[in-house]
Amino acid sequence: MKERLQELQAEALQKVEEASSLKGLNDIRVSYLGKKGPITEVLRGMGKLSAEERPVIGALANEVREAIAEQIEAKQVQLEEAAIAEKLAAETIDVTLPGSPVRTGSKHPLTKVVEEIEDLFISMGYAVAEGPEVEKDYYNFEALNLPKGHPARDMQDSFYITEDILLRTHTSPVQARTMEKHQGKGPVKIICPGKVYRRDNDDATHSHQFMQIEGLVVDENIRMSDLKGTLDVFAKKMFGEDREIRLRPSFFPFTEPSVEMDISCKVCGGKGCSVCKGTGWIEILGAGMVHPNVLEMAGFDSKKYSGFAFGMGPERIAMLKYGVDDIRHFYTNDIRFLKQFSKHEE
Ligand SMILES: [Zn+2]
Repeated sequence: MKERLQELQAEALQKVEEASSLKGLNDIRVSYLGKKGPITEVLRGMGKLSAEERPVIGALANEVREAIAEQIEAKQVQLEEAAIAEKLAAETIDVTLPGSPVRTGSKHPLTKVVEEIEDLFISMGYAVAEGPEVEKDYYNFEALNLPKGHPARDMQDSFYITEDILLRTHTSPVQARTMEKHQGKGPVKIICPGKVYRRDNDDATHSHQFMQIEGLVVDENIRMSDLKGTLDVFAKKMFGEDREIRLRPSFFPFTEPSVEMDISCKVCGGKGCSVCKGTGWIEILGAGMVHPNVLEMAGFDSKKYSGFAFGMGPERIAMLKYGVDDIRHFYTNDIRFLKQFSKHEE
């Protein structure tokens, strides 16, 4: 029996040594050390042995098992390390290969212009206010001194959803809503950026959906000179320190008096060219002193409070700033157009 055990040990160790895979190694473990293995079989035969021989053979059998198990464990570590090394070798990355460039997007030119204008006014103490695009006729028109039947409503052919609900035609309802929230107490100092909708046929300068940014300041002793100073800062920051502004009389139902603001033409320096149509000036925005009726309707005492408001189209600002000749470029998502603005990223 002793010889048989020694034979088995030698045989098993030989096989372990030769094993080339983890699976093969496991097979060896099962066949030699398992319950149906040859060593167990030898131990079963111990009943025939004398009382002196039994512990000797028992001890030897345990030694043999331990030796085989130890060897299997050592071989397993070796095989596992080899497998990892092989995997690493197969997955080696050539870091000297040139990479494929990752294409990144950039902010939409309109978003950039809106954010630039927002930042400018935030730096002057304004808050950004937003409101619904589906609006009540009351906030879109009536609260802004445009009662039903007012002829100026024709200036802004609207998308009505019901008789009293429409897609807002300007961001002015945000002003009306904000003033209402202030419950007659100033100051109010906001800019309202957002999308607006009008029944316009789309062409190079018109779109049925476009953006607006309006500003509103309501407080005691707000004067026309405050408006002019604010617009002057805006024009210089947005278009260049050498820009001049001029105000021309205009009409809006919600402001009195109302003005249009022009900036001096950068291209010709005011001499007149095709960009400014020979005038030396380019129209930028509309503005004015808030109409007393608008203040009163929002709950402000128009004898105590006054204010100014202005509104502009980010599309027009972006077209002038970047030299874009067709408003539709902003909405068609042509990557060749959009990617030109990634280099303007600050
Ligand atoms: Zn010009």
